[in-house]
Amino acid sequence: MSANHLRHLFPFFSQSDVRYLDSAATSHKPNGVIKAVNDFTVSQNANVHRSSYPLAQAATGAFESARRQVQCFINASRCEEIIWTKGATEGINILAHSLAASYLQAGDEILLSCLEHHANIVPWQQAAMRTGAKIRVLPVDDQGVLQLDAALNMFNSKTALLAIGQVSNALGNINPLTPLIERARQHSALVLVDGAQAASHLRVDVQALDCDFYVFSGHKVYAPSGIGVLYGKYDLLAQLPPYQTGGEMVQRVSFEHSQFMPPPVKFEAGTPNVAGAIGLGCALDFVTQHIVDIQRQETALYHLLIEGLRSINGIKLWGEIDNSIALQSYTLTNQATQDVALMLAEQHIAMRAGHHCAMPLMQRLGIDGTLRASLACYNNSDDVQALVEALFIASKNLRQVAVNDTKLPVSNIADSVKRAKGWDEIYRQVMLAGKQLEILPLSQRTADTELFGCESQVWLRCEHWKNGLHIQAYSPSKMVRGLIAVIIEALAPLSLEQIEAFDLSNYLSELGLAKHLSVSRGNGLNAVIAHIKVFCASKQ
Ligand code: PMP
Repeated sequence: MSANHLRHLFPFFSQSDVRYLDSAATSHKPNGVIKAVNDFTVSQNANVHRSSYPLAQAATGAFESARRQVQCFINASRCEEIIWTKGATEGINILAHSLAASYLQAGDEILLSCLEHHANIVPWQQAAMRTGAKIRVLPVDDQGVLQLDAALNMFNSKTALLAIGQVSNALGNINPLTPLIERARQHSALVLVDGAQAASHLRVDVQALDCDFYVFSGHKVYAPSGIGVLYGKYDLLAQLPPYQTGGEMVQRVSFEHSQFMPPPVKFEAGTPNVAGAIGLGCALDFVTQHIVDIQRQETALYHLLIEGLRSINGIKLWGEIDNSIALQSYTLTNQATQDVALMLAEQHIAMRAGHHCAMPLMQRLGIDGTLRASLACYNNSDDVQALVEALFIASKNLRQVAVNDTKLPVSNIADSVKRAKGWDEIYRQVMLAGKQLEILPLSQRTADTELFGCESQVWLRCEHWKNGLHIQAYSPSKMVRGLIAVIIEALAPLSLEQIEAFDLSNYLSELGLAKHLSVSRGNGLNAVIAHIKVFCASKQ
């Protein structure tokens, strides 16, 4: 079957020229899923489990049949082990609340890996705060690979839970779950596997894994957003208290007492996302039907991607290459990831840059973030080629600005930006403008001077001198430094009152910059200008 055979099943690609390399964030949906959701909404819509008229029975039937499709997909032993959730995050929260209320105790240890997504860290921190349990972190090496021997040595009689991703969303590594789960069993600890990045790439078998709980999100496995799954072994689910309560999950209610339904309904208070569940069932059938082609296609493209990335000067690849899904994180020496991502976006490459909701991992690796190309079954070699070519252009442009480091930038930034033709020349002028910025010394880049709301880190300090406003700032991003210089130049001749009335978006439109700024970067500049305005107001 050809690569494009699968791509043709996804209508997104027939109406967009975007090179979509961000499937780890969310995937596109095949025709079958879109049709299933649409058909249900148009002709079968009714609430489930509540009524006996035929329409409601049909809706309940379709909903429960989707639950069986999930059961088959992950090889759960009973369909009552499948709980519908909004997604992986909600699944982990349900479990963390239930375990905190019934199982975790002061002094217990929760083992998480250093690779975890925030969704598999923060709920456990909250649970630890409520119970007095302690979080311990399974280490990774300098490349971001789990150190198995050290990890195995961290289990002891206090280990109550291992919560670990099957695949790292930031680096793509497939974690060695089998020995870790075996070790957890030896210490009678529970095991949660976060399968958010695994379900669309690997065959999932919760019985073979012998995990107690497993979560994943529909939207990363070709299904709609707002639907996901928490799997749990039935006997454990039967013992756990519910996280949310209300309609549907109860057998009997009086004002004094309520009796809960057995799992899974006990964990599904309120009206569920019926259309989403039907879409997810259909998406999982799609994956099962095509898994051989999906894996073959993704493996071939991943090799092509690695080869292409390695041809770029000054690139560093992170994580494991030989034991990875089709996802690669990389950085370019001396270049802020956001600057590269912005240039790629101008060339129609949709790719994520940043910490990927894995800040502790980035801290461990000593970087702010990475660029991450993540592939799915609909990608083709043209997508990979386009990324490599765009990366080549971006790195050349960024290096050019560095080569020009010693040259003084043109004195009037606004004029030079307005005169620039094409996105690459505009970016070059903005980045050159950054050289006029007075850099805030490292010692002053503290929590007090850090501004939030921008994709890149920004520190800024204002002072009011006799001859006007004096601003020092720093960002690792050349573009952000340049944009701050653009703003400072505009504010320099203004009085404090005029600064307070300054309209940033008008000014950026005047310079022709507005269309080149992502919303969050725009928001970042808004944070800069808001900070300056507050400072000016305090000086009047
Ligand atoms: N875990 C991992 C490994 C993820 O990649 C993600 C999403 N990026 C999540 C959990 C959270 O998934 P969701 O936002 O769909 O709840």
